[in-house]
Amino acid sequence: MTLIPDPAAPPATGAAPEKIRCDACPVMCYIAPGQTGACDRYANDAGRIIRTDPVTLLTRALDHGGRIIPFAAATWTDGLVPEDSTVTGIGSGTTYPDYKPAPFIVSQQIDGADMVTVVTEAIFSYCGVKVKIDTDRHLGPEGATVRHQGEPVGHVTTAEYGSQMLSLGGVHHLTGGSKAEGRLTCAALLALCNGEAVDLTIDEGSTVTVQAGKPPIVDGIPERRMRVGCGSATIGMFASQWKGLVDEVVVVDDHITGVVSEHQAGKVIGWEPTGIRIKGHRSTPGRYFRVSEPGLGWGGTRLSDPLEILGDWNPKKGARPGLRLLMVSTTGEQYAYYELDDELNPRAMPLPPALLPTVALIDENCEPSLCTVLFMGGAGGSLRAGVTRNPVRLTRSVQSGETRLTSGGAECFIWPGGGITFMVDVTRLPQGAFGHVPTPALVAPLEFTLPRDAYLRLGGHDDAIRSLPDIIETGGEYPIAAKLHPKGGPV
Ligand code: SF4
Repeated sequence: MTLIPDPAAPPATGAAPEKIRCDACPVMCYIAPGQTGACDRYANDAGRIIRTDPVTLLTRALDHGGRIIPFAAATWTDGLVPEDSTVTGIGSGTTYPDYKPAPFIVSQQIDGADMVTVVTEAIFSYCGVKVKIDTDRHLGPEGATVRHQGEPVGHVTTAEYGSQMLSLGGVHHLTGGSKAEGRLTCAALLALCNGEAVDLTIDEGSTVTVQAGKPPIVDGIPERRMRVGCGSATIGMFASQWKGLVDEVVVVDDHITGVVSEHQAGKVIGWEPTGIRIKGHRSTPGRYFRVSEPGLGWGGTRLSDPLEILGDWNPKKGARPGLRLLMVSTTGEQYAYYELDDELNPRAMPLPPALLPTVALIDENCEPSLCTVLFMGGAGGSLRAGVTRNPVRLTRSVQSGETRLTSGGAECFIWPGGGITFMVDVTRLPQGAFGHVPTPALVAPLEFTLPRDAYLRLGGHDDAIRSLPDIIETGGEYPIAAKLHPKGGPV
């Protein structure tokens, strides 16, 4: 860390102690003694810059089924660090402005192989999160703007099977709009990545509270179930369960509404025609698109009364008084039972007890509705210079699989193609692993692990390689932070 006296500060001979300059990001804060910089990640501790969080070590705890767990302050004391511990980028500090080696370059035997792990906290202006919200409910039109505290922070993207998807952040929202837009985008991303709940509003749509690993709250109502499948899939799964108990089943779904007597699954097990008519676009037998508009009602439609999607019943094709009809949504949350009267109008009746288990089976087969947050960032920029003197070799090494990229110890998905564009499930990282700087940008931990000979071959900083015991003993760039962290955490 470079210490640069504040030119505006009074002379050192005066009573006021000097501020010093942090150069760990382009903001270049002058920090007074005992104070932290704008991001709270660095502080002036008696005239030296320290990182305010401890470096997080990870170990494979056998009593946790081999799952990687953070080495919490409560379970770590000096001298008791297991040999299989690995240093993560969390709390390691950053290489910015990247002309120098990464904060920790650790040599270690891993499964008998001589490996090197390079760790850093990377600053990402090019980053965002992809959010998967398990719900059938219509949250907003595709392409609609998603807002946080009134500022645009992303948009609704293509829906997936049983889930609505949001794409938040990205360089245009972080840096391309107003200051407020950039600040609130950064705040929303940081909170989501650190597992906090964030309220989002969607233009022409709903308000949704998103928290990684928790059920979404749509317009104030916690979502409970992810749908079992589309209406057609539901028919495919349960056609035989209904056989003999009812004459017709309609599974109402915003995407594909299924009708068992017409569906192939019903045909092959002998369902008779019923003369039913569905108002919607018939795709293939027993599969209907656009029976309604998207909404918060039955099966992600606007429907509160499912009978709205039925036309006149045709007696020439099987409709008859007394015909039994079950209508159910794709989560089993909504259902209704009818019998046709003498005029072939459906009359609502109590659900026969024999049908109750079939509706419960749909509900049972639905998975819990959750929010998933994947951080996505581009690690192909100047941070590579902290790893190697020849950055493109790192890119090639990651792309070839020789170098393993993790984020706070969590496995990353690397996008094929150019650069090092990766995604990571934020729930796989230890709590509070992400930070920010007010440029605005997010700070995320990264670890590059590869065989030592490969590291040297790709132009790695061989003179900066250190052993784990040495790092534990002497800390990193900021030894005071490593040994005397105020939270009493690990090195
Ligand atoms: S915002 Fe943080 S990292 Fe950037 S200069 Fe200020 S204290 Fe250092």
